[in-house]
Amino acid sequence: MANDSLEKARKEINEIDKEMAELFVRRMHVAEAVAEYKASHGLPILDSEREKQVIERGAKSIQDKELRLYYTRFIKECMALSRDYQEEMTTTDENNVIRLCTDGGSYNITVLRGGIYRAGEFFNLNRRVLIVTDSGVPKEYAESVRSQCKEAKIVTVKEGEESKSIEVFGSLLSEMLDFGMTRSDCVVAVGGGVVGDLSGFAASSYMRGVDFYNIPTTLLSQVDSSIGGKTAVNLSGVKNIVGAFYQPRGVIIDTDLLSTLPKRHIANGMAEAIKMSLTSDGELFNLIENCDIEDNIDEIITRSLMIKKAVVEADEREGGVRKILNFGHTLGHGIEAAEMGSLYHGECVAIGMMAVCSKEVKERLIPVLKKASLPHSYDGDIEATLEYISHDKKRDGEKISVVFVDEIGSYRIEKTDVEDFCARVREEMKK
Ligand code: NAD
Repeated sequence: MANDSLEKARKEINEIDKEMAELFVRRMHVAEAVAEYKASHGLPILDSEREKQVIERGAKSIQDKELRLYYTRFIKECMALSRDYQEEMTTTDENNVIRLCTDGGSYNITVLRGGIYRAGEFFNLNRRVLIVTDSGVPKEYAESVRSQCKEAKIVTVKEGEESKSIEVFGSLLSEMLDFGMTRSDCVVAVGGGVVGDLSGFAASSYMRGVDFYNIPTTLLSQVDSSIGGKTAVNLSGVKNIVGAFYQPRGVIIDTDLLSTLPKRHIANGMAEAIKMSLTSDGELFNLIENCDIEDNIDEIITRSLMIKKAVVEADEREGGVRKILNFGHTLGHGIEAAEMGSLYHGECVAIGMMAVCSKEVKERLIPVLKKASLPHSYDGDIEATLEYISHDKKRDGEKISVVFVDEIGSYRIEKTDVEDFCARVREEMKK
């Protein structure tokens, strides 16, 4: 192609792009009107049948077979954007709704006391619904969801990390099959991080993926694990080694559910909120430092969710900034493995954070950890812990990415030699 022909072609593309931009705005305005109609008539935004028809109709009008495939991709993307826009338009401020948007899906996180009793307003439960809970979660929570479903089955797995296994995962799939679930049915998790990770993974793989909703019932799952799309089970003693990135279709954070949660589990979740405040939100740290935690739990949760949302939106699959969610986890995971369950995850993370903070940060962190009933030192076998870190099966190479906090509200990520990290931990633990 000669240079002047290239220029001519580019000019033409510019003109087409301009027309497309105008058409796009027109299309979104019409979508907005449709959204308003649907909202005022109580109709769901998603209408898969109509979307299918629109895609097929458009594709039929394109003769070129190859271009038809590209067009299908283009229009699908356009419809997904339109759906997101419509959802956003119709999201009212009546409830505290946070919208999380990723390539893997966009969804509302509704922070609402008593929200579990209104699940049918936020989730499409007008189909077969498999509700997954565990034996430690008060039964009435799952029952209240069941009462709002067209047809539901409750599966209660044994409480505890052992349920995050291939066997229990398989048993959930069998339950879904026996229940006659199809691609258009859904799974609702009612429980902590164990139930969420396990049932989210089952939802991701049954018929190559059915809709998944999450109603987290522990503080840890409300501030952290219920959003972001990480689902997994453990295998041969290695945590979260088998799983998928699979975003839920909706999440309800009902802080009333925390009233039955044992205090130690409240502390466990607070560790993750403190972690997020240290790397990303100095004001949240100040709040936790100065307020009554129980009285301000809704704000602590909402602010933590905002941090996690921003991180996940920027980096859905942990290629970069999502690593900051692992702040305090390198040593934390080592302690967790060495302690074999006697310390909770959040307690291990609390100790883990102490090894990667500056002296100034530690001075403020220690009283905050004490206030939240979390440990700030470790008197267990540190060498066993370091041994675990050195042999971590999930590590690639000799270097590990470690997140450090030198100043509250900011972080730095450094590729660190494992041995250097272990030496630092030995030093820090002596102090
Ligand atoms: P958990 O799910 O085991 O729940 C803790 C205990 O509390 C259980 O015994 C449960 O039965 C009980 N419980 C739950 N809700 C209750 C309530 N409202 N009242 C009374 N009891 C209740 O533990 P967790 O701390 O919520 O989650 C830990 C899991 O989360 C781990 O497996 C971890 O790997 C995972 N996790 C996942 C992510 C993610 O992004 N997916 C992030 C962090 C942690």
